[in-house]
Amino acid sequence: MDHFGHVIDGEEITPGPTFDSVDPWTREPWATVALGGAAEADLAVSAARRAFDEGPWPRMGFAERGALIHRLADLIEEHAQELALADSRDMGKPLADALGKDVPRTAQNFRFFADHARLAMAETLPMDSGHHAYTRYEPAGVVAAVAPWNFPLMLESWKVAPALAWGNTVVLKPAEDTPASATILARLARAAGIPPGVLNVLHGYGPNSAGSALTEDPRVDRITFTGESGTGRIITGAAARNLTPVSLELGGKGANLVFADADLDNAVDWSIKAIFTNAGQVCLAGSRLYVERPILDEFLARFVAAAERLVIGDPRDPATQIGPLASQAHYEKVRGYVENSAGKVLTGGLGDGWTVKPTVVVDAPADSPIMCEEVFGPVVTVTPFDSEAEAVRVANDSPYGLNAMVFTENLSRAHRVSAQLRAGTIWTNCFFVRDLRAPFGGFADSGWGREGGNFSREFFTEPKAVVMAI
Ligand code: NAD
Repeated sequence: MDHFGHVIDGEEITPGPTFDSVDPWTREPWATVALGGAAEADLAVSAARRAFDEGPWPRMGFAERGALIHRLADLIEEHAQELALADSRDMGKPLADALGKDVPRTAQNFRFFADHARLAMAETLPMDSGHHAYTRYEPAGVVAAVAPWNFPLMLESWKVAPALAWGNTVVLKPAEDTPASATILARLARAAGIPPGVLNVLHGYGPNSAGSALTEDPRVDRITFTGESGTGRIITGAAARNLTPVSLELGGKGANLVFADADLDNAVDWSIKAIFTNAGQVCLAGSRLYVERPILDEFLARFVAAAERLVIGDPRDPATQIGPLASQAHYEKVRGYVENSAGKVLTGGLGDGWTVKPTVVVDAPADSPIMCEEVFGPVVTVTPFDSEAEAVRVANDSPYGLNAMVFTENLSRAHRVSAQLRAGTIWTNCFFVRDLRAPFGGFADSGWGREGGNFSREFFTEPKAVVMAI
């Protein structure tokens, strides 16, 4: 079996007990992993603190730091197969997706944030008084990055890349279900020449374990968290006690609005991707599909046919589009929604092992759990609507506000509806397309703060005003 240790101060260590990482396709352990607790969290934060307070990283220029981050991006590409296989074995993601999307985007994220920091401008403010003010964006310090399991490596890079690029040091706690790629990333960071203590990886569980010890540590200057809204509330409580700024990327229940004037081929194609990519284990999933009544029957016929064509199977088979769910516990959760859907299942249901077939549910009451709660699996509800105003109302009728999709060929409607939807990202006639300069984050229970470009800079730096009499 493979083994993945913590990476603390440049060394890969396993000082205490271990836990198994289970491959959800074989349902057998494939790796052992160091199990951290308060003692290991203390070691990791101490290493990151030392590297920040005394080490070269925050004091390097952007060009030198950026060159090392670019070297890391190159190594990520060179080790693409190893990284992709780690995520695939940890959580059942199709290897082709990890190799073709997650790993290349991870390398791209590191390059983007290195370049963005190097090229960023700061404000200069000539004042009426004759004084001159300017802004310095200084690194915030030690960043605790707590990550989920659905896009392990890629989501970690959205945190680690900007944090490092702006001169911070990091303790990354990957999800317990997907530990492997984080250790590989930290090994590659050392190989790239990033100094010891700058990127530390701490493994373990959340409550009463590595996660809580890390987020409760007063020596941490920023907490960036992606995961469930409930966990976000707990972490915010810990952060409040230390007055540590916290950024939260939380759950979602994306509404997908298909108007009668939509390009139907395009709408079906993206709606399939929006709910079934990564077996629906996507915070941005279009899990509430609303279709304008005149095209409901035709849309459903095409949508169900396309869902039934998706290939379920061994994540390592290049033909596979849907693998198992990430863990037994998660499979049981999704199974509960499928078995008690309170609607009519048009296609789908449970598959072999921990797989769930692409499942399409109609006639689910608006207040039923499957319509209101985040299922986080390949399960979609389809509901008709009769007017634009109704579409906006039902889309906004959710405690979440991460994203929404709008399919229409009417340009005015696209803008009008996008403006009224209460969600952090609106995709019109597309899905999942991302520009790293744009804000990414959620309204309401979907989070606090935004990631991306200058938004990441705001969070990972302490902006300082220097006012000069000249
Ligand atoms: P989770 O909240 O269970 O766990 C996320 C991380 O938090 C893990 O590393 C876990 O160990 C840690 N954790 C758990 N309890 C903790 C505690 N008390 N203190 C400190 N750390 C703790 O989430 P998950 O099941 O891994 O991920 C799925 C969720 O993530 C879904 O709700 C999904 O929508 C959300 N998500 C959001 C985004 C986004 O960008 N908004 C992206 C991906 C996933």
